[in-house]
Amino acid sequence: MKIKISEITNILRKKIANYHFDYQNPKFGSVISVGDGIALVQGLNDAKYMEIVTFENAGNGLVFNLEENHVGVIIFEKQNQIQEKDRVETTGKIISIDVGTEFLGRVIDPLGKTLDSKPLIKSKEKRVIENVAPSVMARTAVNEPLETGILAVDALLPIGKGQRELIIGDRQTGKTSLALDAIINQKNKDVVCIYVSIGQKSSSVLRMIDKLKKNGAFSYTTVVVALSSATEAMKFIAPFSGMTHAEYYLDQGKDVLIVFDDLSKHAIAYRGLSLLLRRTPGRQAYPGDIFYLHSRLLERAAKLKSDAGGGSITALPIVETQLEDLTAYIPTNIISITDGQIFLINELFNLGFKPAIDYGLSVSRVGSTAQIEAIKKTVGSLKLDMAEYKELKIFSQFGGNLDTNTNKVLEHGNRIIEILKQKEFEQLPQWMMVIILLSIKEKLIDQIEPKKIVIFRKHLIDHFMKIQKTKWLKNFIDSKKISDDVKVKIVEEIEKVISQMKFLFKSF
Ligand code: ATP
Ligand code: MG
Repeated sequence: MKIKISEITNILRKKIANYHFDYQNPKFGSVISVGDGIALVQGLNDAKYMEIVTFENAGNGLVFNLEENHVGVIIFEKQNQIQEKDRVETTGKIISIDVGTEFLGRVIDPLGKTLDSKPLIKSKEKRVIENVAPSVMARTAVNEPLETGILAVDALLPIGKGQRELIIGDRQTGKTSLALDAIINQKNKDVVCIYVSIGQKSSSVLRMIDKLKKNGAFSYTTVVVALSSATEAMKFIAPFSGMTHAEYYLDQGKDVLIVFDDLSKHAIAYRGLSLLLRRTPGRQAYPGDIFYLHSRLLERAAKLKSDAGGGSITALPIVETQLEDLTAYIPTNIISITDGQIFLINELFNLGFKPAIDYGLSVSRVGSTAQIEAIKKTVGSLKLDMAEYKELKIFSQFGGNLDTNTNKVLEHGNRIIEILKQKEFEQLPQWMMVIILLSIKEKLIDQIEPKKIVIFRKHLIDHFMKIQKTKWLKNFIDSKKISDDVKVKIVEEIEKVISQMKFLFKSF
């Protein structure tokens, strides 16, 4: 075949003549390719990192990669309406969202669009979703408790306002439930809550919202949702969007609790985007800056000094592990960023010990500075006792005779484990925790068989609820301080419950 040069040049000439793309204007570009939630765009010489761009036919995107010859844009929605050669325009705006109290009691997507059937939200304030964390000088030490209402957490792994405590565990170990309990317990406590759901099924999200509503916690909560079916771009910005909502309240000096459920799915979304944009993969194919991504997010949680507003953001990120491997890349990263972790394990969950906390591997690095005095005094050496119990329990499984001391520790431990069991949505006030802790510390529970501890716990709570208006008890509840006299009186009352129980079981 003979190639006619004139024919080829003619075709080229025609193509060039019809090509009306305005290369001179740095505001415009044209789509080279589109797919997998990403558009590569030629032109856009003006584009800035994290700037919103608009596509000619549909929707918005976010500038994510700035390269020599093209710009990588991640697409939020309507990808299938974008075509090659579509015109793209910069907006000059770094990605920002509406914030405000209007969003409380609402379900929104990370860009602020409502997902419930109620009307759209118009708010007065807009904020950029990437913000620099408060400076060291503006912060103060964590010293106020954030009450979760869960005895095992408030007594052994106390969380303070402004802290970042990781909830970590395999699938279906009660991670979400623990975080929800913490949110529900903020009722009437003047703490605003934000729940960020990343990559979950819509059925799980609906169930979660239902739980919040049923327990009266929805009115002070904003739920930010990027479903598993949402684009990776939506999942990627979701936690930043949630944090921006939280900062709105922080700046007004309020206390905020934010839950990220969960950051492993966030990391996977970010990995997907990075790989598609051909960023260099690192360990487990995650990009090298994944640590920086999560640390700059979680650093925004803080407790501020009173002259800087005095507000706080407490963050409870959730991470899902595979086969309880805490040494995988994302778990180790986030463990080192946060101020402690609550590790939930399958073994305990399946045995019915809920919340299924592994007390050996869980820690709160803020510790007792975030506890009220009465709890601090009554919790005593509970954590050490638990650790000793766990060790001896393993040892005792080898069989053989155990000395009386070891037996005592095991017997006591069996009862502690039972009394720390707590159902979902059963919020305990701090004073009630003090009473239960006292029954442990004074070894009063040792008089009851482990199997009957659950019944005893119920009786104990009912009894003290009944007498809570008694003057001495009311004084203690209001002051949150426990004197020796009060302690003696509480012990007397606990003993009353125990003798009632003994009588009850004898009569069976
Ligand atoms: P996933 O990995 O699917 O997100 P998860 O770790 O978040 O799971 P949850 O959904 O919180 O786990 O809980 C799993 C199940 O266990 C739920 O059905 C929940 O109702 C139940 N559950 C969790 N905590 C408790 C508890 N303290 N008492 C009784 N049931 C509980
Ligand atoms: Mg969950």
